[in-house]
Amino acid sequence: MEAYTEIREAVAKLCAGFPGPYWRALDREMAYPTAFVNALTESGYLSVLIPEAYGGSGLPLSAAAAILEEVQRAGCNGGACHAQMYTMGTLLRHGSEAQKAEYLPALAEGRLRLQAFGVTEPTSGTDTGSLKTTARLEGDHYVVSGQKIWTSRAEHSDLMLLLARTSPRTEGMKRTDGLSVLLVDMREARGNGLTIRPIRTMMNHATTEVFFDNLRVPAQNLIGAEGKGFRYILSGMNAERILIAAECIGDAKWFIEKARIYAGERSVFGRPIGANQGVQFPIAKAYANMRAAELMVREALALYEGGANPGAEANMAKMLAADASFEAANACIQTHGGFGFAEEYDIERKFRETRLYQVAPISTNLILAYLSEHVLGLPRSY
Ligand SMILES: Cc1cc2nc3c(=O)[nH]c(=O)nc-3n(C[C@H](O)[C@H](O)[C@H](O)COP(=O)(O)OP(=O)(O)OC[C@H]3O[C@@H](n4cnc5c(N)ncnc54)[C@H](O)[C@@H]3O)c2cc1C
Repeated sequence: MEAYTEIREAVAKLCAGFPGPYWRALDREMAYPTAFVNALTESGYLSVLIPEAYGGSGLPLSAAAAILEEVQRAGCNGGACHAQMYTMGTLLRHGSEAQKAEYLPALAEGRLRLQAFGVTEPTSGTDTGSLKTTARLEGDHYVVSGQKIWTSRAEHSDLMLLLARTSPRTEGMKRTDGLSVLLVDMREARGNGLTIRPIRTMMNHATTEVFFDNLRVPAQNLIGAEGKGFRYILSGMNAERILIAAECIGDAKWFIEKARIYAGERSVFGRPIGANQGVQFPIAKAYANMRAAELMVREALALYEGGANPGAEANMAKMLAADASFEAANACIQTHGGFGFAEEYDIERKFRETRLYQVAPISTNLILAYLSEHVLGLPRSY
């Protein structure tokens, strides 16, 4: 698999223009990193997965993984815009030619943002099949009513990929049938049936709750066939999980490097704290676990690029990488003692940011349930 050394170096250089103080100031205000996202967009990094025919660079998933890993490794936060890379995959794979021609070139140029993804609802949670937002076809429009929660970046996106129920659940029907994907143009919709409310969270993630009150969406914005939406969303999830795993690897590398340097420099009792096994072993263990998780990310990437849909490997990569990044975060904060809690070291911020990936976009328990059922053949537990 290609190492993408040049891309990695260029991303690292770009990220060097957005050091700790930039992120700390945004974190305090819970503000969106507009300048950083614009810089990534203008350099073409967010459109690497869009085929050349639509104006992107048509690179494989491993290029996107390399970019996001470097962003995190540099101490930045790709959570502000990572979805711009992969959300368009649903449109690319299942959209009509007319939809692709209308949106993909604009996304590739950075004129349009498609980085809001409305699946989770307050009452259904992980159980997507029980979501309640409805889209009722009336003439040439769908009329959408309901609520989504944790719709990240909705205030900083032009378009939203929305999963809604288009036919009621009836006896004998599969729980996930009757769901459809709509491309919602939020520029027209805000104030006309769409309300977005930010949610303040433990980390600066621009996440929101979104309310639909008889919002009219042109029927031509339906992606693929009506009722098959869950399948379309699922087909994009492996790419999402692999890319988030790559981000976690980047985070783990950032924490390990910070801890390594500090352990060598900080002197207590007349010698570097890193001379103590109690300090160096947790860092070494975090390093070993990061490297193991990195191998699983590579395995998932290789299978994905070979044309497979590697559900098990993508899920394992995400879980192992999220565990590795959180272990590294913990070792890093411990190595720094009291200073690990000081804002100016950026560790507590990155610690909060990387914690998210134990829960989103899929929580660890659901990954374990997937492996138990689909790989180990154990009874379905839910
Ligand atoms: C900051 C942030 C950003 C997000 N961004 C988006 C976004 O852009 N778009 C979007 O659609 N969603 C988004 N999400 C939602 C995210 O995907 C969900 O929070 C996640 O999937 C878990 O769902 P839930 O919060 O409803 O938890 P629940 O489903 O209520 O689960 C709560 C806990 O119970 C456990 N649990 C539930 N069922 C079982 C079971 N059967 N077996 C064992 N354990 C179980 C879970 O693992 C979890 O730990 C975001 C979430 C956060 C916090």
